[in-house]
Amino acid sequence: MAKLGFNQATTLKNSTLVKDLVLAEKYGYDYIEIRLDKLKEFFRDHTVDELAAFFAGSRLKPYSFNALEFITFRDKAGYAAIKEDLGFLCKVGQRIGCREIVVVPTFDVGDKTLAEIRRESHRALGDLADEAVKYGVRLAYEFVGYPNCSVNTFGQCYEIVASLNRADVGMVLDCFHFHAMNSRLDDLRQADAAKLFILHIDDSEDLPPGWLRDHHRLWPGDGVAPLADILGTLKRKGFDNMISVELFRPEYWGWDAEAAFRAGKEKTEAVLATYFR
Ligand code: ZN
Repeated sequence: MAKLGFNQATTLKNSTLVKDLVLAEKYGYDYIEIRLDKLKEFFRDHTVDELAAFFAGSRLKPYSFNALEFITFRDKAGYAAIKEDLGFLCKVGQRIGCREIVVVPTFDVGDKTLAEIRRESHRALGDLADEAVKYGVRLAYEFVGYPNCSVNTFGQCYEIVASLNRADVGMVLDCFHFHAMNSRLDDLRQADAAKLFILHIDDSEDLPPGWLRDHHRLWPGDGVAPLADILGTLKRKGFDNMISVELFRPEYWGWDAEAAFRAGKEKTEAVLATYFR
């Protein structure tokens, strides 16, 4: 049975890491995905020892860090900043037992061919993974279902990680992003589940492909993303990694954070019970 996670984007504007840890534990989530910005904010007045002590004493565990953004086609200074954040996350990850980092391809890269995007993705993923492996950390590449993202469908992202063929580099399947650019179910059916490190679960308003943006996300079950097809396919494949609720909806950021944890758990478990468990 897949484990349930909470991604901090869901309470991005109405909570903190300290509050998210307490609420995720209270509502019985198995894992938390920690955001890089929230982690840096936490360290302004807390230490890594405090964070390690929390996880040592809780049922809740850390699963991944989100995210190293725009890892491809960067200039020297931009790429150096990514490497610096990578080193920071690896060191924290080693202390608290967090073994995955989500990495995101770059937007608006101009007229790059699919082959050029694959080559640059392989270079960046390979270079970052060579560093992360020293800490026992692996990378999950997350395609973004926006027209101007250089990797924007499941099939394209899967082909990149499958052809890179490293055990420590896989991908994130985000149901909203899958829907937002009409990713093909056949590509998912043919995929090796071992490459799917993380499932982000969410749903989508009924707007045309190419127009959908993160703020159109809805709680799982409340929208039109093909959750039944995705979850049914994953179940047949024996997918057993974390399923993490990840919303970016300003409406939900207006709620009390506790209400978001409660709704995320209830809505997600109802969908999983229908289609997955
Ligand atoms: Zn996601």
